[in-house]
Amino acid sequence: MQLLDGKKVSEAILAGIAETVSQRKQEGKKTPHLAAILVGGDPASQTYVASKVKTCEQIGFGSTLLRLGEETSEPELLAHIAAFNADPEIDGILVQLPLPRHIAEEKVINAISPEKDVDGFHPISLGRMVLGLPTFISATPNGIMMMLEHYNIDTTGKHCVVIGRSNIVGTPMSVLLSRNSNPGNCTVTLCHSKTRDLKALCLQADIIVAAIGRPNYVTADMVKEGAIVIDVGINRIEDSSKKSGFRLVGDVDFDQVAEKCSYITPVPGGVGKMTICALMNNTLLAVKDK
Ligand code: NDP
Repeated sequence: MQLLDGKKVSEAILAGIAETVSQRKQEGKKTPHLAAILVGGDPASQTYVASKVKTCEQIGFGSTLLRLGEETSEPELLAHIAAFNADPEIDGILVQLPLPRHIAEEKVINAISPEKDVDGFHPISLGRMVLGLPTFISATPNGIMMMLEHYNIDTTGKHCVVIGRSNIVGTPMSVLLSRNSNPGNCTVTLCHSKTRDLKALCLQADIIVAAIGRPNYVTADMVKEGAIVIDVGINRIEDSSKKSGFRLVGDVDFDQVAEKCSYITPVPGGVGKMTICALMNNTLLAVKDK
């Protein structure tokens, strides 16, 4: 079994981006700038946004973090997005999900200018991705593709089972892996909570991508010998031995599954790191040189 080391791969890619940024600065070109909006105090969201902002600092990007209270109204949030859309200093905008219940996620996603939609969630970005046109590809599936490419994993002709059909992970992942490209050219089965006999489908899979949001859901008896297992899940489970009172686990029962597969991503240190890396790459691509 080989570990797909998101930390190592993302550090290498981020070093390349930092080099490009430093070069741009020497040439007097614009510094890439990411604006993040966090609404409310969800602890996991706070951690994600903080690590995105920290990565911006590490690689020389500018960043703006707008923290808004839980009670922020939808029009207020939309007004902030409109201001960021109009600000030429800002190249990429992300609104950390999930949002408080009184705010319609769809409206917020649609309000971000597609030219600054570095999360790749806007219908225009998703539509262009499906058509294979240049666009911002949502960071998690994009990061997974970067990881497969980095490890030179041949996906052609393989059967990939993607578990989870969310707009931000499972669905774009299934499209990217079925594209006529490398990585890609997989035969993809997209599974969800209504799928019958998930285990039988998983046992046929050369590649499993688990994006479910249920701790340790994919067990060793669901995985074929030699399969490649990509664990997207980030789940907090109670752990009194930790200072925080919790630890992070994926959707895959790592210890048992690792013994059977050829490659596996750890949690943490796998897909999460690649997601941030892909987001930074999108932000660099978003910069418009005058
Ligand atoms: P969603 O809750 O939006 O989607 C979960 C999907 O899993 C749904 O399609 C659901 O099916 C499916 N599902 C739920 N239960 C089952 C089941 N028993 N069998 C088969 N399918 C099931 O989650 P996200 O896609 O946003 O996230 C998934 C996980 O990935 C979470 O743990 C999240 O924290 C993590 N994540 C990690 C990221 C990273 O950077 N590593 C980035 C984004 C997410 P249905 O559609 O029928 O309800």
